[in-house]
Amino acid sequence: MHSRFYVRPNFWAALSFITISFSACNATDSQRAAKVEDTPLITDSVPAKSEPEKPAIDVEDTLSLVKDSVKIVAKHADTTTKDTAVLYTDSISPRYVYLTFDDGPLIGSQAIDSITTAKQVKTNVFLIGMHAEMSKRMYKYYQKYMTNPLIDSYNHSFTHAHNKFSVFYSQPQKAFADFDKNETALQLQHKIVRLPGRNIWYFDARRRVDLESGASTADLLHMNGYKIMGWDVEWKMNGTTGKPLETVSQIYRRMRNRLNNGTTFSKNNVVLLMHDDMFQNRKGQKLLSDLIDSLKLHPNYKFEHLRAYPKN
Ligand SMILES: [Zn+2]
Repeated sequence: MHSRFYVRPNFWAALSFITISFSACNATDSQRAAKVEDTPLITDSVPAKSEPEKPAIDVEDTLSLVKDSVKIVAKHADTTTKDTAVLYTDSISPRYVYLTFDDGPLIGSQAIDSITTAKQVKTNVFLIGMHAEMSKRMYKYYQKYMTNPLIDSYNHSFTHAHNKFSVFYSQPQKAFADFDKNETALQLQHKIVRLPGRNIWYFDARRRVDLESGASTADLLHMNGYKIMGWDVEWKMNGTTGKPLETVSQIYRRMRNRLNNGTTFSKNNVVLLMHDDMFQNRKGQKLLSDLIDSLKLHPNYKFEHLRAYPKN
């Protein structure tokens, strides 16, 4: 049960964050450093403070967060209990965030493992057996994933269709065998798959297919007890360099908007697709940390494993 006081810490934290954001725009580096040192309370409540010149979310986002909070407080003050309850529920009811990383183990996997642990959030990885067998180093990363209790490891096929998706899905039995081989090779514990090159959802009686050529393989997997997971938002990358093509702000806003608009595959649940490749260098790793910090500013956002999807 939530109390109305739950709103207030978030409100003041957001206000504090604005103070930092504005001073970051106007102050010199030394003034900024002094300000941060002088305000340990803000340090605790604002994860992005260590690099105030690049806040994890922009001022516009912060303002809308504050506006939401102000609206809630105002509603509490002068409207009927019924209205307040509705707004209150809409604004701070639990929402579930599923961070998913495809195609590992790859060079970025070690950082994903470390950041997951440092931030203490649940994350999900879709693994490729062929990559785990590429080198000792990749096998070690695979083992890190498997032994990290915050990370759930799922099935992304053994060969990733050798990136020839239409050919792969034209033979559903062979494609199914590739997933089956992956499950055995990687000793995967959950019957949860993501199809390479396809955004297909199929679990319980809910089915959504983006490209029909993957549908028969999805049906076969579903018939054999697999849950097939797509995604709501993709953080796109440069296919060659792995460089993320959108800013943290853009991704954060897309996730938040999809949740607010109720346009995710399951209401109040948002699945973000990323790739291990994106986090192979420090610049990429910082982006992932910043995104997690931004999402954590919402006290009602919870990071979850896909085995629990959807939650309500
Ligand atoms: Zn993939």
